[in-house]
Amino acid sequence: MVKVVRVLPDSIAEELGIAPGTELISVNGRDLHDFLDWEFLAADDELVVQARQPDGEEIAYEISRSEGEQLGVTLEPPNVRRCANRCEFCFIEGLPTGLRRNLYIRDDDYRLSFTYGNFATLSNVKEKDIARILEYRLSPLYVSVHATNWDARKVLLNNPRVPNIVDQLTRLAEGGIRFHCQMVVVPGLNDGAVLDESLRDLWNLGDAVLSAAVVPVGLTQFSHLYTGEPMDAAAANRLLEDVTRWSERAMRERGEHWVYGSDELYLLAGRELPAAEFYGDFSQIENGIGAVASLRARVTAGRSELPRMDGRRIGVVTGKAMAGLMPQLLAALSEATGADFDLIVVESSLFGPTITTAGLLVGADIHRALIDRTDLSLALIPAETINEDGVFLDDVDFAQLRDSLPVPVFPSYDFIDFLAAEAEAIAA
Ligand code: SF4
Repeated sequence: MVKVVRVLPDSIAEELGIAPGTELISVNGRDLHDFLDWEFLAADDELVVQARQPDGEEIAYEISRSEGEQLGVTLEPPNVRRCANRCEFCFIEGLPTGLRRNLYIRDDDYRLSFTYGNFATLSNVKEKDIARILEYRLSPLYVSVHATNWDARKVLLNNPRVPNIVDQLTRLAEGGIRFHCQMVVVPGLNDGAVLDESLRDLWNLGDAVLSAAVVPVGLTQFSHLYTGEPMDAAAANRLLEDVTRWSERAMRERGEHWVYGSDELYLLAGRELPAAEFYGDFSQIENGIGAVASLRARVTAGRSELPRMDGRRIGVVTGKAMAGLMPQLLAALSEATGADFDLIVVESSLFGPTITTAGLLVGADIHRALIDRTDLSLALIPAETINEDGVFLDDVDFAQLRDSLPVPVFPSYDFIDFLAAEAEAIAA
């Protein structure tokens, strides 16, 4: 059963009298267990939907619709599948206490992997889930492999009952499922020969593995479970050498780099990041693979369209990770607009000095950075720091923060988004 929370105006559902609170029980005789069942089973044009109305009455809706016509219901959010592992490097275990509850949910859900690109380990996947992935062709999936070596994976996931990931991927691949994989690397556990074995196993799955990412373990000052070694510059360099060997082979044999080190890995190693062409279709950009190259490319492509802003002084708030890369970007923006850009590098007060990503700055950090900046015309902050409800990770409300500061503040993903909007406003 799945529950309707919203009915779109002028939709088939509204015409039928389906109301919020209606429970959808089955479609064409097949039971509905979650949003995926609804999405796939209700894809036909001829449907019999068995439902229970909010007053308890059961009803069968016979629906005939033209191709592409939406039924018009929004379902209640799914119960997320919880993770059965206890990785020492789990970022959620590294969160400080006192944040809002949903931040502590350790999801490991193949459905969210398919729908939203969340990484899942597949370690809680049962036989019926495999059948479902194959029937609905849930592809591509984003899979946290970490290591294909079974023993190493049990240690990494801190779970002696994890299934053999190579067997799982092989079976799914034979059914036509494709994967984007990642290895979060803990020095001494899944680097070196273990990483080589992982990349070889994934490579041998042929075109089923669309991409592989190598990401350094990321720890906060609260990562209390972690007993491994930290990732230092030497370890990051060794990792990148291993990744490069595979990526060069992939380029020779498949015409794409296939395996990528994360941006953070390059920064840790002190190496120059590759250009945008290196990353192909940026399939793992949400995982921090090629995000810097993409930003640089967007600035390069967009700067000729920007308005003149001579005399204005624009503050740019960022984390330490980007501090060394920003001056070049801001110089290009300054040349294009005439504005002065003032780089403001901030440390995360919530996670401590080891977490340098701009997207993990919180409201208190932004407040601290800008409260005295009456010299600025405006300030840009990383848009990733604010969620869809307009709040930072520390529950500070963006609108309230903005009103409390002496300078106008705007969230921005890539500078060009804000500056191009300014250009339009000037033209209007
Ligand atoms: S798989 Fe590991 S890292 Fe991911 S949520 Fe579970 S414990 Fe955390």
